Order: sequence, then C-alpha cells, then structure tokens
Amino acid sequence: MSRNLCRTNCYYCRCEVIRTGETRELTDEDVGAYFPEYCGMIVAEAECSMCEAKYLAWMGKIPHSYRDDGEIRIRDLSFRSSFNDEPGVDDLPAFEIEERIAYVKTTWPTFKCGARKVHRDYDYCLKCRVDHKDESGGGS
Ligand SMILES: [Zn+2]
Ligand SMILES: [Zn+2]
Repeated sequence: MSRNLCRTNCYYCRCEVIRTGETRELTDEDVGAYFPEYCGMIVAEAECSMCEAKYLAWMGKIPHSYRDDGEIRIRDLSFRSSFNDEPGVDDLPAFEIEERIAYVKTTWPTFKCGARKVHRDYDYCLKCRVDHKDESGGGS
C-alpha cells in the first residue's frame, strides 16, 4: 500500500489526467492523519479526461533539458478522497472507456517508374529489377 500510484495517466483507462484545480499546498483535509509527513507538498485536484476518475495530482518541477527553470507539472497521482493508491467511493470513474483501433486506408507507395513498392522501406523494384535507392525516388 502506498500513497502514490507511480503514474501520471489514468489508473482505469490510461487516458490523460488533467489538472482541474489550482496548484496549492497540501492541507490536512486532503490527507487527514497522514498530514505531517506530507506537509508542504504541492498538489492540485485532477481528474481523468475520459472516465472522470478523481485524483489528487502531485505537482512538481520537471527539469528541462535545455533550461534550468522547468515547469510545474503532474509528477504522480493519488486517488483524491483516499489520498492513497486505492480509490475511495468518490474517486471512481463515471464512464467505462473502451479502446478501439482505427484502420486508415491510403494509396500504396510507388517508385517514380510507377511500380508499386514491395514494402514501404524497401527500394528494390520488382518491375525494373534494380534498386531505386540512388534515384531519390519513391513517394508518389
Ligand atoms: Zn480514466
Ligand atoms: Zn522501377
């Protein structure tokens, strides 16, 4: 059992969790008896953008590769009413999210000679019996 979920996306549907409240210091109303050891922590109310599960986001600076400042972002999550990695009744999702895969149909890639490629990443042409790699061809 731990306070944090060790993730920044939704525990239930893996979708994006967004901040819904102001970034602020943790209060004893958030955590009850656990407050002393988490005193001074920066948090914000947050919820899943898809299923609406309720979280308390652990906010913090993410060091930026090219800058010293970095920005305050969600670094970890707890369920909000329980301040725990197990949800309270008020934290449960409103929606069940089903992921569906979409198939997108586009024209098969061809060489400049007009022949279709065997595979998008191969340059050997079945029609000309040569490798068209050097012709910087391909594409439409
Ligand atoms: Zn969700
Ligand atoms: Zn060809």
